[in-house]
This record gives sequence, structure tokens and C-alpha cells, in this order.
Amino acid sequence: MDADIKAKYASLFGMDRPTTVKGCDHPGCADAGLYKAPKSRATLYDYYWFCLDHVRAYNQAWDFYAGMNTSEIEQAIKFDTVWQRETWPMGGNWQQREEEMRHKMRAEFFGDGMHARAPYEAPPPSATRPPPHIIEALAVLELEADASVEEMKTQYKKLVKRHHPDANGGSRAAEDKIKIINQAFTALKTHFAMVGEQG
Ligand SMILES: [Zn+2]
Repeated sequence: MDADIKAKYASLFGMDRPTTVKGCDHPGCADAGLYKAPKSRATLYDYYWFCLDHVRAYNQAWDFYAGMNTSEIEQAIKFDTVWQRETWPMGGNWQQREEEMRHKMRAEFFGDGMHARAPYEAPPPSATRPPPHIIEALAVLELEADASVEEMKTQYKKLVKRHHPDANGGSRAAEDKIKIINQAFTALKTHFAMVGEQG
């Protein structure tokens, strides 16, 4: 077969498409990306392509999360999702949770590069940080930003007891303090009843 006919056949059967090999998807790696790793379970046909070293590292990073129990996973992603716990109870939307885990894992694996964010979907608007007056109310009750509703109740009772005027010789300052604590707790009750109390 002469070269011309060969070229025609190649074109006819789509064999003239470039057969270039992608580079490894890990930032800064110059090796060929010969090994694929799924980006997520939701996008089965979407893969990263890595060199052997990086596909191993990627799978290892994923296994690290996959091997954790639920409370360890919670802990690992707590920082990013503190305020989503109220609306995304564990087990309620596991697929979303897994995406979060993968997101976190990718962020660690790739650094702050674009790859880390690509398949990650932003959380629903309901899961955003609470308004400033709620953050203030939490501060008044000396609570961490990730305090549970149960912790709020417990802390409220504790502070009311501590600052009760009877326990402070009927002091005016204690009375004022109680007022502020009550206001803060009312704000929290209203806010979290709106979001929906778990259990
Ligand atoms: Zn590589």
C-alpha cells in the first residue's frame, strides 16, 4: 500500500487522530499520565491521568479517607463543613459527604491547584455560615462555632446558674449579664429552629 492510500484508510477509520499521551495530572510532574484514577464516583467516566508514582499516591490518599470511620471523617472535614452538619446529617446524604471527602482529599493531594476543585460542587445556600448576630450569640454563650444544639442548651443552663443574681448577691451586673445571655439564647433558638433541629 502506498503512502497516499494508507493515509486515506487511516482517515476513514479514524486512525489519523493524534495518539498523544497526556502528561501526569499532578501539578509540576513531567511524566506521562498512563494510569487513570476516577475523579469521583458520581462521574465514572471522568478520570485523572497520572504517572505510576502519582496514581499510587492518589489512591493511597483516597484509601486513607475511605478507611476512616464516620466520626474520623467528620473530624477530618469538620473545618470546611462546620455549618453543614445541621442540614447534612451523617448518612442523610452520603454521596454528598463522599464528594466532600474527595474534595478535601484532592485539595490535599493537589495543593491549591485547579484540579482540586474541578468536580466539586458548592454546598447548597442553606449550608452557609450563620449570620453575624448568631456568631455573636455563640460568643456570648462562650461557645465554639461548631457547637451542637445540645451544647447550646447545656451551656445556657450553666451560664444562667453562674450569673444568677441570687448567686451573686443580687448584683446589678449579674442581672444585666443574664439579660444578655437570655437574648443570645433566644436568638440561637430562633435561628436553629428555623434550620431544623436534629433529633
Ligand atoms: Zn506524576
